[in-house]
Amino acid sequence: MNVLVINAGSSSLKFQLLDVDTREVYAKGNCERIGIDGSFVGYESIAVEGKQKLDVPLPDHKTAASYVVDIVQATGKDFIGIGHRVVQGGWYFPESKIVTDESLGWVREVAPLAPLHNYAEADVIEICRELFPGKGNVVVADTSFHYNIPEKAHRYALPRDVVEKFHIRKYGAHGTSHRYIWRASKEFLGDDLHNLVSCHLGSGSSLAAIKDGHDMDTTMGLTPLDGLIMGTRCGTIDPATVCFLMREGGYTIDEVDTMMNKQSGLLALSGISSDSRDIEAGIANGDPNCKLAFDMFYYRTGQLIMEMAQSLQGFDAMAFSAGIGENSPTMRMGVAKELEWMGVKIDEEKNAIRSDEVREISTPDSKIRVLVVPTNEEYMIALDVAELLG
Ligand code: AMP
Repeated sequence: MNVLVINAGSSSLKFQLLDVDTREVYAKGNCERIGIDGSFVGYESIAVEGKQKLDVPLPDHKTAASYVVDIVQATGKDFIGIGHRVVQGGWYFPESKIVTDESLGWVREVAPLAPLHNYAEADVIEICRELFPGKGNVVVADTSFHYNIPEKAHRYALPRDVVEKFHIRKYGAHGTSHRYIWRASKEFLGDDLHNLVSCHLGSGSSLAAIKDGHDMDTTMGLTPLDGLIMGTRCGTIDPATVCFLMREGGYTIDEVDTMMNKQSGLLALSGISSDSRDIEAGIANGDPNCKLAFDMFYYRTGQLIMEMAQSLQGFDAMAFSAGIGENSPTMRMGVAKELEWMGVKIDEEKNAIRSDEVREISTPDSKIRVLVVPTNEEYMIALDVAELLG
């Protein structure tokens, strides 16, 4: 059963046509720099050999989507429907839902919680309804997995009327990835796994505390700014810092917003880059700011893993995933060292192995099993589409 998965950003549109039964990918690519100079479509497909790059103007998402139509048609493969990754489902998407005029309206209604993503995603859903007539569309919200975390974990200790009026709560993010990480970890560990701390560590990073497939807590909050130190995001800071900067520093709310989301995190700490590879090279060259950036990343990640473990009342395993979690042995070792006091031990040789497979990197005597799980959000989205439309 084939499904087309669409992941739209404010200036990008990723797509993948895959078979949910065999996991075979027939076409995948990314329309980049939409609305910006130098736009292009990069893709691979069973219809052509090798990586393709079309240097074409992409003034808007509709133009980008029309290239996706052509690329998908060229494969000669039909599909049952389209799954759309939506960053913020707010209070409307406790699970994935088929797109109707009403549910599309909900994606827009909750967009102020994720303005950079939801508006573009809603536009692209509308475009797909037009460009792929007769195909069903499904919203797969990144927040759904966190929807049912206990109230004590998702409630903010703010006045009730404010919380209710503005729908303030912990919504979390990366839910589709955490759901996949659970599934793959369970397949790997079987009955040995009940409590998992899922570590999605990429340019955006979050943890999830998962008990028998159910999420109990997560580190991101109302927005994806909360929690871990990320590439350019500061993660948790004293919220009064915002008031202080505005009152004493004369910053506007937009300036603080940009500062915390785009100019902070590993980028601000290292002073050179948001990319862990550049920072690792900086450490090798003796740069003390780069060393501090990694030390803080390990410290905060270790701390928050313990927070997640507390909400699970103990854990059997932790799984590293996403760009950093899957590819950086240094980062994995640094985080594990923070947890050595409670018996987490990583095998250096296993940690150094590069692979696309789920693998265990802990030592046999480690109190917690440690896995590396390459995430696959597209597959998870396609499974939801198959379930709802198949
Ligand atoms: P993501 O957002 O999941 O695509 O993760 C992107 C981040 O993963 C990059 O900014 C890098 O910091 C990190 N990353 C990607 N590839 C590698 C690699 N081979 N080694 C170390 N870090 C990597």
